[in-house]
Amino acid sequence: MDYYVLTLFPDMIKHGLMTSIIGRAIEEDLLHLEAVNIRDYTNSRHGKTDDYPYGGGAGMVMQAQPVYDAYRSVADRLPYKPRVVYLTPQGRVFDQTCARELALEKGIVFLCGHYEGIDERVIQEIVTDEISIGDFVLTGGELPAMCLIDAISRMIPGVLHNEDSAEGDSFGDGLLEFPQYSRPEVWNGIPVPKILLSGDHAKVDAWRREQSLIRTAERRPDLLEKAAVSPKEREFIRKYLAKSDSI
Ligand code: SAM
Repeated sequence: MDYYVLTLFPDMIKHGLMTSIIGRAIEEDLLHLEAVNIRDYTNSRHGKTDDYPYGGGAGMVMQAQPVYDAYRSVADRLPYKPRVVYLTPQGRVFDQTCARELALEKGIVFLCGHYEGIDERVIQEIVTDEISIGDFVLTGGELPAMCLIDAISRMIPGVLHNEDSAEGDSFGDGLLEFPQYSRPEVWNGIPVPKILLSGDHAKVDAWRREQSLIRTAERRPDLLEKAAVSPKEREFIRKYLAKSDSI
């Protein structure tokens, strides 16, 4: 997977992604990351990349020309037309399904806005997808781009080693993951649930599934509508919720 991030702050991208699991995958050549500095492509003698908004109002707007030329510097050397994701609070809200879909691409260009955003004309010219990471406004698209790159990369074979496995992760099967415990057996007077020490894998799996169902029902009941949950499990949830309501 090749990632190209068009940004005014390339160091932020490099520092944010060159560590831990994603950094290791880049070093192992499973991922390729290029942070393209939009400022390097401005025609302005003073290195300007933004200007006042037409129509007035507060803030500055990133100009079309440097963004377009930065994009062309990437697109012109690719043998395919890449998807271009503009990170914006006005886009489709990112989720695991979207991460899975984007992980099938050969390469993705991410466009990070700043200030009041980017001149609409260049967005219409080059962007294929507008994606938001939630209903809040950040100062720039760099953190959202890093969130997407992290989530997408986890789906790419070889990026996660056994010890960082995605098996059972939240949203994998449409449910939230069960609670996790590690050593010691008793911490702060609180023991680990006994079943996890039993060595009986079938029982552990059944307990974990129940915990997933309970967590999802309590915290994100909206997910249950689409999740693969059997009628017997739905009955289990109904009884569990009725019991906890009556306490
Ligand atoms: N004026 C814009 C609006 O109201 O839609 C917000 C601009 S925001 C201050 C600057 C940049 O941060 C945006 O161009 C976008 O790239 C990024 N950004 C802010 N919040 C975001 C979010 N929730 N998801 C994705 N990108 C976001």
